[in-house]
Amino acid sequence: MLLRRFRGVQNPTNSYIGAFKIRKMRKISFLLAALCLLTAATMAQETPDLDMFKKIRNEEMTNSKVMEIAYYLTDVSGPRLTISPGYTRASNWAKSKLTEWGLSNVALEPWGEFGKGWELKKSYIAMTAPYYQPMIAYPKAWTLGTDGLKSGEVMLVDAKDSADYMARFKGKVAGKIIITPLAQDLNKLDSTADGSRYSDEELKKIANPAPDTGRRGNNPEFAARMQALRFRNKLKELAQADGAIAIISASTRGKHGTLFVQGGGPYRVNTAPSMPDISMGGEDYLRIQRLVKGGVPVKLDMDIQTQFTQDDTKGYNVVGEIPGTDKKLKDEIVMVGAHLDSWHGATGATDNAAGSAVMLEVVRLLKTMGVKPKRTIRIALWNGEEQGLFGSSGYVKNHFADPATMELKPEHAKLAAYFNLDNGSGKIRGIYLENNEAVRPIFEKWLEPFHDMGAATITKSHTGGTDHESFDAVGLPGFQFIQDELEYDTRTHHSNMDTYDRLLPEDLKQAATIIAAFVYQAAQRDDKLPRKELPKPRPARAPF
Ligand SMILES: [Zn+2]
Repeated sequence: MLLRRFRGVQNPTNSYIGAFKIRKMRKISFLLAALCLLTAATMAQETPDLDMFKKIRNEEMTNSKVMEIAYYLTDVSGPRLTISPGYTRASNWAKSKLTEWGLSNVALEPWGEFGKGWELKKSYIAMTAPYYQPMIAYPKAWTLGTDGLKSGEVMLVDAKDSADYMARFKGKVAGKIIITPLAQDLNKLDSTADGSRYSDEELKKIANPAPDTGRRGNNPEFAARMQALRFRNKLKELAQADGAIAIISASTRGKHGTLFVQGGGPYRVNTAPSMPDISMGGEDYLRIQRLVKGGVPVKLDMDIQTQFTQDDTKGYNVVGEIPGTDKKLKDEIVMVGAHLDSWHGATGATDNAAGSAVMLEVVRLLKTMGVKPKRTIRIALWNGEEQGLFGSSGYVKNHFADPATMELKPEHAKLAAYFNLDNGSGKIRGIYLENNEAVRPIFEKWLEPFHDMGAATITKSHTGGTDHESFDAVGLPGFQFIQDELEYDTRTHHSNMDTYDRLLPEDLKQAATIIAAFVYQAAQRDDKLPRKELPKPRPARAPF
C-alpha cells in the first residue's frame, strides 16, 4: 500500500443515510421506514451457502498453496518495482499459473502509460575513514549510479533553503557525499513490541470511529513535510549541478538495521534522472553525522550501477477469469485484486506479495473445488500501486468510468463487487464499508461463520491508500478488509526487511478462506451488492 500517512481511518462524511438526512430533513421518517423495509428485505434474502463456506474452509486449511505462491512472488521473482524486470518475472509467473489452473481470458493487460523502467544492478557502500565498515544502505529507485567506484568525504549540508545553499555551499560540494541534519534520537529503550494484533478494544474503536479531526490538507505537519520534500528535491538539483557524488538520507522510522527505501527520482519519460540518492540505516547514518559534527573526517566508497529502460513504457496488470455459468448473471462480474508491484529494498512480501498470493490462492481454490459460479469471477493483480494506484485507476478508467467525467461504460453496470487485500500479512479482522451502510447486513451474515477466526468487525469507515479506492471513486462497491497490523509499520512496509520470512502462513490461509467465501457468495446471490450514490465528476487529481 501507499504510505500510511495517506491511509488511516477517517470519519464517514458521505454516508448514504447521512447525505439524505442533511438534504431532506422533512422526509426523514419516510426514509427511515423505507430503509428498515429495505434492510429487512436484504436480511431476509441474505442466506449465505454455509455448506459451501465449510467446504472452502476445509479445503484451504488442509491443501493450501498460498505459501508456495508467495515463494514464487518473492524469493523467485525478486523485488517487483513497477515495470521492472522483477515485476515482469512475477507477472509472467502469475499469468502462467492462472492458465495452468484453467482460468479463462488470462492476460497481461496494459493499463496506460507509466514511464521508465529501473533496476539496481550493483550496490557497494562502505565507510573507509576513520576506519573500514560496511554500511546498511540502499539506492533509491529511479536514481543514477556512481559511474564506477567513487570515494568521497562526507559533508553535512545544513542549508535551510536554496538561498542559504547558494550562500554557504555553492562550489563546495564537488566530489563530496552529502548528508543533511537528522534530529533522530535512538538512545532510548523502545519497550513496545514490534508486532501486534488488534485488541478487542482497538477493534471497537475501528467499528465506532471518533469524529473527524480535520482534513489532511490543513494539517501543518503534513504541509511542513511537503515543504521539506520540495526543498530536498531542489537541493539534489543544485548539488548534482555542482558535482556532488551522492546524497544520503535516513528514514526516521528505521532502527536495528531496518531501513525504508522508495523512489528518489522521476520516472516519466523525458525527465532528467536524479543524482545517486541513498537511504541508510538509522544507526549508520547517525554515527556518520556524529563523527562529522565532531570534526572527524568520514570517507565513503560507493560503486552503484542502476539501469533505466524505455523499450516499453506502458504498465501491465495481470487478469484472469472463472467464467460465470448462469444465463442471466454470467455477464456480471465479481472482482478480487491486490497490487503485485513493490518497492525494491527487499521482495515486497507483506507489501504486497501477501495480498497477491491470497487472491491467487482464492481463484486457485475455487477453481480446484470445481465451483461453477453464477457470475464471472475475475482476478486482477495491479501494477503501479506504489506510485499512485496507477494500475487499478487505469483499469477502472478503461473498463468502467473516468472519475473526471463520470461517463459510464457498459461494464459499469455489470460489476457486482470488488474485494482488495493490501494491509500486510495480517489476518482478516473485518471489513470497511466505505460509508456504504446498505452492505452492512449482508457482510454481517457473510462474516458470521468466521467469527471464530477473529473476523467480526464491520465499520462504516473509509480506509485509504490502496486500490479499492479506484473503484469507489466511480461509485462501484469496492472494499478493503481490516487486517491485523503485525510488524507492518515498524519493520516491513517499504523496508529492506520485507521478505518471505515476515509472512504468517496461518494468517494468509485465514484471509484466503474468508475472501473465497465472500467472492463465492457475491457471485451467487440474487442481486449485485448495493451501491452508494454515483459521485459527481471530479477534475483529474492525485489519487490520494
Ligand atoms: Zn506500499
